[in-house]
Amino acid sequence: MSLDRQQRLWTTTCHQQFSTIFSLLRLKNLTGQKKLFQLYQVPLYRPIKMASTSFHDPEVVKFLDKAFEIIKEESLQKGTDNKYPVVDFQQPKDLESLLDTEISSEPATHDQLLDALKKIIQYSVKTGHPHFMNQLYGGLDPYSQVGAWVTPTLNTNLHTYEVAPAFVILERYIYKKMLALVGFEHGEGLFCPGGTASNIFALHLARFNKFPDVRKNGIYGMKPLRMYTSDMAHYSLKKGALYLGLGTDNVVTINTDDRGHMITSELERCIKEDLEKGFVPMYVNATSGSTVLGSFDDLTAISEVCKTYNLWLHSDACWGGGTLLSRKHRHLMKGSHLCNSIAWNFHKFSGTPIQSSAFLLNDPSGNLMEEANSTKAEYLFQPDKYYDASYDIGDKTVQCGRSVDIVKLWMQWRGLGDSGMEAKIDLAYDKAHYLTEKLKITEGFKMVLPEFECTNISFWYIPKRLRGKVEDDGWWQEVNDVAPKLKERMMKAGTLMIQYQALSTKGYANFFRVVIVNQHVNYSDMDFVIEEFERLGHDL
Ligand SMILES: *Cc1c(COP(=O)(O)O)cnc(C)c1O
Repeated sequence: MSLDRQQRLWTTTCHQQFSTIFSLLRLKNLTGQKKLFQLYQVPLYRPIKMASTSFHDPEVVKFLDKAFEIIKEESLQKGTDNKYPVVDFQQPKDLESLLDTEISSEPATHDQLLDALKKIIQYSVKTGHPHFMNQLYGGLDPYSQVGAWVTPTLNTNLHTYEVAPAFVILERYIYKKMLALVGFEHGEGLFCPGGTASNIFALHLARFNKFPDVRKNGIYGMKPLRMYTSDMAHYSLKKGALYLGLGTDNVVTINTDDRGHMITSELERCIKEDLEKGFVPMYVNATSGSTVLGSFDDLTAISEVCKTYNLWLHSDACWGGGTLLSRKHRHLMKGSHLCNSIAWNFHKFSGTPIQSSAFLLNDPSGNLMEEANSTKAEYLFQPDKYYDASYDIGDKTVQCGRSVDIVKLWMQWRGLGDSGMEAKIDLAYDKAHYLTEKLKITEGFKMVLPEFECTNISFWYIPKRLRGKVEDDGWWQEVNDVAPKLKERMMKAGTLMIQYQALSTKGYANFFRVVIVNQHVNYSDMDFVIEEFERLGHDL
């Protein structure tokens, strides 16, 4: 028997999955010249059973079609229709039994899987629903959905051009567009696993920029580096400080004015104080759209201070970056071109599916990212590539593989055009303005600020028994206690999702924060918010 035939036979019988028998194994000697045969007592054949996973199997195709129908109807259509609830809330213990989670040794049938899929959707929060105003994200559009679906079907990583050629080109195109919007003449972009990751990445680059030796030596023996951010900032700078070994005590909190902006003179005072104490000021994090109040720090004024003391200026525009897409509202980001870096979450204001977090670097040298991060792994970034290796972005990051987040944003932007991306922002502002004005004149609502710079609107709800009373400490305590109770009623009714929080730095009792990002929210939905608060909360 020829060797080839022997091998073929072996392979075929293997596939036939008979019971255990013994077989001949082929061995090749080291030189490859002579072929040897040897009898091995190895059990080669055992029954292997597995559900069909072939995309050419008609049953699998039927399964895919049905799954798509369910996703389209239950998630995309009912999930964005206010005739249906925004949430079917269950306590965790109840949900454990309501969801059919059991995985047994035998494969589930397609029908069982499809039923389970329906239940997963049923008990999930519909963040594309017009009454989901709970977080800084929400809203769905068909273009970004298709972009999101295609990514896992091509299942690749964004480290080299070799495995992700089309995605690399799309990323580079979008980075250029974003860099032009923020006003960085020479710069780079990088999609990061979230805004927190982008903010930490900025801090890492800033530290390397000031102290390149840190790459090799670490921070041992260095004087404490100081970072500055406002009392309204996101907690990610603190996370960065703890993660990069800089210490959270070295994050200096700068007071804000009564509208939530960092007070620039306070920033300068703290920097001077630190210099006198022997600290090394390094980094200022400006917040461009604060998470709770939506305030934008003055980038131009802060950049003056940064220039004077040679500090890195990062704009955390995770929430407010979307304003750059609107000619009417981009003045809020005035001075963005003066920053060293910017973090901008498209999955927030622009409603791109989570996550879509762009980090943008202002870098005239063109090689900061590479110098800070490159480790030149030989198995990925060969120096003798058959194409222009500058298209391999992987070595400039701190990751190995990177998720392909670009297609959903690119499809959305192309599908809506610049004008549609702008309209999403402008519509959100118009509705937020409508709601603010209406809340101001409606009994039972008290605004946290007289105006808001972004589309997160904060207010206290005052139930009937507390209206018109003296606003002393006891009264505020009662207002504080209303919020969690009203939230519970809202969730159990399943009609509306709006977040509440306290703001201890400003001494504010629990208040509600409506977030408007979804283009499907109508003015009538704004009216509904007010009616629903009254319906659910008047007797609290
Ligand atoms: C949401 C937010 C972040 C964090 O973004 P993630 O993508 O959730 O990590 C950072 N800063 C601000 C101002 C935010 O609103």
